[in-house]
Amino acid sequence: MYDENNIFAKILRKEISCDIFFEDEKVLFFHDINPQAKIHILAIPKLPVVDFNDFILNADQEMIKYFFNKINDVANEMGLTKTGFRLVTNNGKDANQEVPHFHIHLLGGENLKGIK
Ligand code: 5GP
Repeated sequence: MYDENNIFAKILRKEISCDIFFEDEKVLFFHDINPQAKIHILAIPKLPVVDFNDFILNADQEMIKYFFNKINDVANEMGLTKTGFRLVTNNGKDANQEVPHFHIHLLGGENLKGIK
């Protein structure tokens, strides 16, 4: 069940501010409040989906393709496709997912050894 009061839902409704990198009608990319690397961006689809599993099962194929292509576009714009980057998604309890709105962490801008 999607919790409409999770922090990213509030960010999407503009009830809480964030440092936006890119936004359109389908996706939002913003800087993580507690960055684990020089570049740490969160990518979220504008859909009420809890986690990766929910996104893959319930979003349409066009949206899934759009979302992952946009992540690559952003990585490219930041120069990360040249230097390297890491994509992470925490799905559920054992992964210690903190915010129950599906998101991908885009990490880079430095060597990521020792960074999860
Ligand atoms: P998770 O553990 O769910 O994969 O990651 C949640 C991420 O959201 C964490 O990296 C955390 O720092 C980030 N985060 C939590 N609350 C906020 C917020 O209000 N604003 C922003 N920009 N990031 C947040």
